[in-house]
Amino acid sequence: MGFLSNMFSKQTCAFCGNEVGALSRKKLHDGNYICKECEKNCSAFIDPSRFDTEFIKQHMEYMKKQDILYKKEFETLDKKQRARFVHEGYYGLEFADEIAMFEVIDPKANKKNYKELFRYDQIKDYEVYAKPNNTTGEGQKKYSEVGITIKMSCQIGIDAVGNSEVENKLSHPYVEELNILCARNTDISNDNTSGAIGHLNQIFGRPSNTVFGAMKESFTGTAHERQGYKAGADALKALGSLAKSKITENEEDAEEAKAKMQEAVESGFAYMSENRSKYTKVADSVEARAWGE
Ligand SMILES: [Zn+2]
Repeated sequence: MGFLSNMFSKQTCAFCGNEVGALSRKKLHDGNYICKECEKNCSAFIDPSRFDTEFIKQHMEYMKKQDILYKKEFETLDKKQRARFVHEGYYGLEFADEIAMFEVIDPKANKKNYKELFRYDQIKDYEVYAKPNNTTGEGQKKYSEVGITIKMSCQIGIDAVGNSEVENKLSHPYVEELNILCARNTDISNDNTSGAIGHLNQIFGRPSNTVFGAMKESFTGTAHERQGYKAGADALKALGSLAKSKITENEEDAEEAKAKMQEAVESGFAYMSENRSKYTKVADSVEARAWGE
């Protein structure tokens, strides 16, 4: 079939069964088609053509659940409980520490049927990106675009090969990377990124990116360091209780020692994982509440 006849031939959407022309459909990995309308049930941050029909069906179910989660747990939060960073009018991040999740603000997400959230514990890393400007001329600055890349632990893609069940549980099922635009046509390589990066640093207890924050930390240590002291103190307390219970052979003392040990393990683990274990607990319980599981 030639290009033109292909252009005008209609194909059936594998999801709604409608006949659709070339301009309002996309070919999936297995050769089936998805129409423009059905694609609105997919995440704005995936490319459906990478996947096959069954996978996309599961993904749509996932998105329906995300929409419930968003409306029940995120939208209902007070504005003060959310940290919102928006740039160039339409792009940004909105964090909700209380539920350990965030939203990516992007015009392409507004066109979708379902809202979605991303979990803090699935963030692997984040950094500022700057795209050099290739066009020269009046008014052209050094960078065409500056923004933030958030790398997610992901169940698909090359990094997921050989993942354990536990690792998969702590990974996003579809998205490997999120790119959030912060400024266009600028000479500053981190233009407008400090607000959201600062909040991410706070979430993971990393050193502050602001002068004021850095000054404060030089006296008190970073949040991560403080957590380290706490983990050490908890471990000492636990060992003390254990020794006491051995000497007294008192059951109550032994129980207390056990509880203290647990506490030490938990704060130690939170320290090692930059708070991720804490956020897993929070996000798990929020999801269970929203979905009635
Ligand atoms: Zn369709």
